[in-house]
Amino acid sequence: MLRWAEIHLNRLFHNYREIKKISGRKKIFAVVKANAYGHGSVRISKFLEDKTDVSGFAVATFEEGKELREARIRREILVMASHLEEGYKEAVDYRLTPVIFDFEGLKLVKELDIPFHVKIDTGMGRLGFLENEWNELLSELKYSKVEGIMSHFSSADEDLDFTKEQFKKFYSFASELKQLKPEIKIHIDNSAAIPIKFDSILTHCRVGIALYGSKPYPDYPLNLKQVMEVKAKVISIKELPSEFPISYSKTYKTSKQEKVAVISFGYADGLLRSLSNKGEVLINGRRCPIRGRICMDMTIVSIEGLKVRKGDTAIISGEKLTFEEIAEKAGTIPYEIMCDISPRVKRIYH
Ligand code: PLP
Repeated sequence: MLRWAEIHLNRLFHNYREIKKISGRKKIFAVVKANAYGHGSVRISKFLEDKTDVSGFAVATFEEGKELREARIRREILVMASHLEEGYKEAVDYRLTPVIFDFEGLKLVKELDIPFHVKIDTGMGRLGFLENEWNELLSELKYSKVEGIMSHFSSADEDLDFTKEQFKKFYSFASELKQLKPEIKIHIDNSAAIPIKFDSILTHCRVGIALYGSKPYPDYPLNLKQVMEVKAKVISIKELPSEFPISYSKTYKTSKQEKVAVISFGYADGLLRSLSNKGEVLINGRRCPIRGRICMDMTIVSIEGLKVRKGDTAIISGEKLTFEEIAEKAGTIPYEIMCDISPRVKRIYH
């Protein structure tokens, strides 16, 4: 095998336990959309359902929910980012819980007579009923099978004041709904928000990135372990002469004789091309800088002064070269890096 990703389920378990230390009485929805942020939604959900008290799972689409049910996942599955018109058949046939965010959806969910969660917009400007619709919404919800009320924070990792404002709005609606439906599930926290001590009206939280071991912000108060380790083989080693160009467009030229290794991992596997001449990989514990442009299937790195052999394993990301570090260098977020690890990279579960 030339390229693969090792998924350490014991680290997932460790992260789950860390999250539980601060989530208090709130139950946990594991966010496993986008193939569990690249980790494999079926295996991740199965593990959590077998080994933990996870309350349910959150996916983006009805297709993603169906895949989990077909793999015999039994706990609640919330579908957060699709309109019900698109997936009402799956919602009914596979017992998926739609998240309703407009009056068309509300009408349909009542006709189908199935349970659902409702989403309000408290300052994200994405999905959810706006404040001027809340009165009408409340009277509509009175005679419905609503089982949950949710909203989403836009900036819990960086703006506490705004997050508190969002929570205040959420609280005012959720507490009114709770009077009508005392058993209602109430959730707004994502990973970044769980350490904030909000009013105990919240019954659940929805956690993604922290489960997979990346901190939503640098001084996040949990000891997390990166679940995924991405690896690839060295397939060629060469000693290039001085003044020799490397890769497309010759963006790097050796200034003296330089030993390089060709790694079987490129942008088609998820190594962002913007890391050309910027990123690093680890070989035998040592950092090796990327030379020249990252190609579709391969990347060239300097191994000057190192003992490296053809067939050695390079670590593209792991605990010593985290998605957070890579994302910082690439000017993006660890979510994107994880999601970008392509299906060509075989997932191996430990
Ligand atoms: N809830 C919603 C609606 C989301 O879109 C997401 C992720 O993007 C989450 C929860 C989980 O967020 P995080 O991965 O930051 O914990």
